[in-house]
Amino acid sequence: MKLYLFDQNNSGGGWVIDDNLDQFVAIEAADEASALTAAEAMGIYLNGVEKDVDCECCGDRWFGPTEVKIVTKAAWPLNNFLPRETKFHYADGRRETKECYHLGKEILFL
Ligand SMILES: [Zn+2]
Repeated sequence: MKLYLFDQNNSGGGWVIDDNLDQFVAIEAADEASALTAAEAMGIYLNGVEKDVDCECCGDRWFGPTEVKIVTKAAWPLNNFLPRETKFHYADGRRETKECYHLGKEILFL
């Protein structure tokens, strides 16, 4: 299993946050295609501007999936980052919400 991250942009000035969705959404899946299928079932979509759903000036709401690793120590300085709320969806059905830092292919729990 791998972990895939979807990064939400507050297109139009607001976040979409519910039981499944958050500023970051991390989905454990066998591959990228499965992660995308699971994400779409939760309401995540890509290319929102092109689809006329998202604000043209703010850009697309959802980006991803990016394959990420959970790290215990970041290789990058944290001072320029704010932790963001992340909903994790594990392959066994477990869910949890955590504050996390994210850069590139690394996620650091707060
Ligand atoms: Zn806008």
